[in-house]
Amino acid sequence: MAEKLFLEIVTPQKAIVSEEVEIVVAPGSEGEFGALKGHTTFLTSLKIGTLRYRDASGKERYLFVNGGFAEVLPDKVTILAESAEYRQDIDVERATKAKERAQKRLAAKAADTDLVRAEVALKRALHRLRIKGTK
Ligand code: ATP
Repeated sequence: MAEKLFLEIVTPQKAIVSEEVEIVVAPGSEGEFGALKGHTTFLTSLKIGTLRYRDASGKERYLFVNGGFAEVLPDKVTILAESAEYRQDIDVERATKAKERAQKRLAAKAADTDLVRAEVALKRALHRLRIKGTK
């Protein structure tokens, strides 16, 4: 039986996860990292991506995370994300609409369009759709 560590995932809207887990794998901005109980302390920013963890019953859980920060302590991982949702909570229609909206903005290149904002919105939408499609 693997030793457990505590995982908290918090967004400005709400706490998404607060439970004991066996392992966490998160999209660090310098690359994906895994944390088990006893990991060295470190702090990193996160990129848009997939966070997965194995819960206390051994089940793999997948979430979309929209950037943010991770604090890894030997017995606890805290994720502060701009937004995050479990794979099963991702609304495909909403993500598809967000993708199309961003693509239209990028294609039109209107003078008042914030291209970086549109690119990041597109990245979020594509990643949400990818998570839905892969598992
Ligand atoms: P949209 O343009 O559709 O609002 P967004 O990428 O701008 O998408 P976020 O800022 O990442 O949205 O998130 C705002 C809130 O909406 C968060 O609580 C997030 O979990 C939720 N959310 C966004 N898109 C989806 C989706 N496709 N399915 C489920 N929840 C979503």
